[in-house]
Amino acid sequence: MAKYVLQPNEAPILTATGVRGGDGLMSAFTDEIVLTNLHLIWLRKGMIGNVKNIEYFPLALLKVIDGRAQALLTKSRNGMDQLELFFQHDQKAFGFQTGGKREINEWMRAINRAVTGDELPPEATSSSGVLPGAKAAAESLMGAVRDRAQRAKRPTLGQVPAAPTAMACPGCSAPLSGLSGTVVRCGFCGTESTLR
Ligand SMILES: [Zn+2]
Repeated sequence: MAKYVLQPNEAPILTATGVRGGDGLMSAFTDEIVLTNLHLIWLRKGMIGNVKNIEYFPLALLKVIDGRAQALLTKSRNGMDQLELFFQHDQKAFGFQTGGKREINEWMRAINRAVTGDELPPEATSSSGVLPGAKAAAESLMGAVRDRAQRAKRPTLGQVPAAPTAMACPGCSAPLSGLSGTVVRCGFCGTESTLR
């Protein structure tokens, strides 16, 4: 059986069988992937376990965004969870026969550790189908909305400058006008109200 070749300074970290490489929806879960400190190695196998092809993806070419290796849990075209790796000039997805997020999360953590030397924060692997980039964008959008709301609120916290204003009398709906903040007495029903 053909065997993958390791560099002198390379060692396997994690392996998985029962994997389907690429997005060939028709292909079976016959492949094997191996994570080393330098590569993700994809062994394409035939139905009888014979290795048909071996591809080496250098981890050095895996994108890192916001300190996170871009090995992500995404959905395949038929809606199955998959491990997707975003390389600088290429992307590659692998489905697992177990179908499990747990196994994909384990791979995400191991790849991130191999690439960045850091642990993924726990929340990075818990969500499905949401790219961390998209999540960060949504969070920064929420932050911007919050900031805008706070800025908009700020002037009303201080003294409101008096300005000509008009409102309906709360007692009889007659029009009242004057400077905002002043108390006026309605000429029709006698209700006193503060102009806003
Ligand atoms: Zn009135």
